[in-house]
Amino acid sequence: MIYLDHAAATPVDRRVLEAMEPYFVSDFFNPSAAYLPAKKVAAEYETAKGTIAHAIGAKASDLVMTAGATEANNLAFSALRNGAESASQSLARPSSHHRHPSVLYLETEHDSVRRTAQAYGGEAIRVQSNGVVDLEDLKSKITDDTELISIALVNNELGVIQPLAEISSFLREIKLRRMQKGIRKQLLLHSDASQGLNLLEINVARLGVDLLTLNAAKVYGPKGVGALYVSHEVRLSPLTVGGGQENGLRSGTENVPGVIGFAKAVELAREHLNGNRKKYAEWRRILLSELSDYELINKKHVLDNFVVICYNGIDAERLIYLLEERGVYVATGAACAASKGIRSHVLAAIGLTEAQIAGSLRITLGETNDEEHLRKAAHIINEVVKDERERIVRRSHKLRNEK
Ligand code: PLP
Repeated sequence: MIYLDHAAATPVDRRVLEAMEPYFVSDFFNPSAAYLPAKKVAAEYETAKGTIAHAIGAKASDLVMTAGATEANNLAFSALRNGAESASQSLARPSSHHRHPSVLYLETEHDSVRRTAQAYGGEAIRVQSNGVVDLEDLKSKITDDTELISIALVNNELGVIQPLAEISSFLREIKLRRMQKGIRKQLLLHSDASQGLNLLEINVARLGVDLLTLNAAKVYGPKGVGALYVSHEVRLSPLTVGGGQENGLRSGTENVPGVIGFAKAVELAREHLNGNRKKYAEWRRILLSELSDYELINKKHVLDNFVVICYNGIDAERLIYLLEERGVYVATGAACAASKGIRSHVLAAIGLTEAQIAGSLRITLGETNDEEHLRKAAHIINEVVKDERERIVRRSHKLRNEK
């Protein structure tokens, strides 16, 4: 098997699994319990949170641990709620009954941001044809009512990196102007960094974000484990109430093994950050030079492990199936949308035609690969595409002859 879909899922690193194991079996105590072994587990849990927080220039107390990035993204939007209403409650009623003109989100966001923002009546910010935020569009849509702007650090279908520091710097200017005008409304920047933690240096202060989503499942950690960084000034409303864990923002017994595993995964990613970036840049170059007859979709401002290519006139869904038969696993877009046969809103947003969208493959490189893999995969993809092109030509000849 040659697995080329690391943006959808990464395998848990063996060292991560080893770090987690004791917390399932021997150190299984509930961190809230009063006896000493439980207190030790509680301390180790805090240390793990500290490791994750440190990697983004924050402190353990700034993080709310969640069951993945979807939950963290949903929680981030509770900054708008003023203590009252959940996104699901908002979803239950048509948004025309509400006046929530205060949310902006990038049109290429993952559904866990996009659908939540839409539930709050959010307005989409356009991207340019390279997938990077259209700053003029963003600036024109910010009003004195705008409270929250959500822009992912790295897009999960294209790997495009957004200029968050630039955005937060002009948001600071807007906040200053608001202060001068006596407007006290918050103006928060949230970023879903699910796809960025693996290969990018992330520092919340340098990025200027108020809220940041992290995801263990994309960094060779366990699935169903994530975190939301929350800056001191931001007030959130919990999605769950109960035992008051995570400073009352996420009640429920802590996922100790999951968070310990997340910390180990983050540590490993940090350790190999520079080496991995160089490695993926080289692998991307090799793959693109070995592949033939394609159009490269994500050219600039991209994370090097993302390769999005288009085979015009070919049905990529069919390619995926044919490639799977040859042991190569790739994607057409976000795994959740692909499984429901939904056309990619991301590829549509960058202006691709229907034919280009239908013919696009997302290849995401990762630690299960090596150079040999990539050459072999490229060879198989070339063969499958060539066969498919020939089949299409034969079919159209046959149809013409039948007429
Ligand atoms: N945000 C982005 C950018 C993602 O790539 C994903 C994962 O597919 C998610 C959010 C959702 O993560 P999870 O399924 O772990 O909640």
